[in-house]
Amino acid sequence: MSRKFKPYTAFSPNSSEPYFLLPFKFHRISENREVLVNEVGDFLICDKGTVQQVVERTLDSESELYQDLIARFFISEKQVPDLIDVYATRYRTKKAFLDHFTGLHIFVITLRCNHSCHYCQVSRKTETQGAFDMCYSDIDRSIDLMLMSPSPDITMEFQGGEPLLAFDKVKYAIERTIELNEQCQKNINFVICTNLTPITEEMLEYCKERNVLLSMSLDGPAFIHDSNRPKTGTPSYDMVVDGLRRSREVVPEDNISALMTTTHLSLEHPRAIIDNYLENGFNHIFLRAISPYGFALKNAKKNIYEAEKYLEFYKEGLDYILELNRQGTFFIEDYASIVLKKILTPFTPGFVDLQSPAGIINGVVVYNYDGYVYASDESRMLAENKDFTFRLGKITDSYQDIFYGEKAQWIAESWAVESLAGCSDCGLQAYCGADPVRNYATQRDIEGHRPTSTHCIKNKGIIEHLLKLIDDKEAGNEAIFRSWINNNPYN
Ligand code: SF4
Repeated sequence: MSRKFKPYTAFSPNSSEPYFLLPFKFHRISENREVLVNEVGDFLICDKGTVQQVVERTLDSESELYQDLIARFFISEKQVPDLIDVYATRYRTKKAFLDHFTGLHIFVITLRCNHSCHYCQVSRKTETQGAFDMCYSDIDRSIDLMLMSPSPDITMEFQGGEPLLAFDKVKYAIERTIELNEQCQKNINFVICTNLTPITEEMLEYCKERNVLLSMSLDGPAFIHDSNRPKTGTPSYDMVVDGLRRSREVVPEDNISALMTTTHLSLEHPRAIIDNYLENGFNHIFLRAISPYGFALKNAKKNIYEAEKYLEFYKEGLDYILELNRQGTFFIEDYASIVLKKILTPFTPGFVDLQSPAGIINGVVVYNYDGYVYASDESRMLAENKDFTFRLGKITDSYQDIFYGEKAQWIAESWAVESLAGCSDCGLQAYCGADPVRNYATQRDIEGHRPTSTHCIKNKGIIEHLLKLIDDKEAGNEAIFRSWINNNPYN
């Protein structure tokens, strides 16, 4: 049987209707509740059947719901609402992360590392393999490319391996950037992603002097951390905690943050991990799922789990964190905070993993130790397994060829949720993002297949859960969530 499209006129606005529909999407969040979300991310959580009423125009125009729908740009009594310019401005605000192009520039200064984490995403090299360091001429050229970015705000992030094993080169790169920036006058932040174990007093004094942020790895209590992140000699956890203590004695507290990775072992212990972060003096945690790249895949039994298992872990952790907040301990879950900023504010959090168009190239780029430029951190992780799909070019290529060349254009065809099959009509689209690299890495298809995508299952599960928590007025979750967004304790 063939089905025909209705004629164009069937979709034309009809002036005899009581109101006009503005663009919005919807999603069932529970058996009895559904959410309506418009183009700028405004939402209304209503009883099931509301969308049908809206579309069939059976709403009572005196009802509160009707007024809410008008006020939040879901329907309009005029074909073009009076405040359409306000709406347009809000849409531009949501996409403001595109205004200045690439802000995060990752320098893979070395692949050498003193750990052998079983989930390592970059297939690290041993401490003495100097061939895996970035050479000085590539550092120079990468800095030139970075400073060509139109963005006035730049984050220069050093990754590895373990960047502190090549601290001389980190220092060289920072000093050169500061010198060249006298001409460019950009606002530049420096970040070192480190396991903190090789840190010395001299390094700390330098980080203090240059206001360098330290992003450290901490997977939770010793029995989890040391299992995930083995090293020879003194166990990692003891050295990390000692490094943290020494760091806090020198650099400002706010300049140190921690990042955890969820493995199979972690899945059973969300509360212990959160308690460990509290014990170590942190007031936030990013309950981060593992990335399916590099050694993580080779050690799949320890690392790769179903997205549903991760969601159970995440929800238990989030419930516990909400309970802590209710009891007066201000503590933030970072991923929730990012998504909530999208849900509850007109602004965009600038988180490269959750953007549309995607954060790759638009928000982040990687200069690798081997002289090549990649679209993202995950892209260079694929390259370590000899898959160069997301290699944008050589560090010696022109800025135009790297950032606007054929490879970048090819990736751009698949980097917007607004146009991806499955995402384009998803009711949660305004809060989600496209991830072509993950699609390719997990499904061998840059466009991806949503029903089986772990990225989709994870994000849909988290966004739905957050909306349900907001909808639970008695629990008062929204006040806690707003305190996270504002980074200000609510009680
Ligand atoms: S990835 Fe899934 S949750 Fe996100 S926009 Fe696409 S369909 Fe929706």
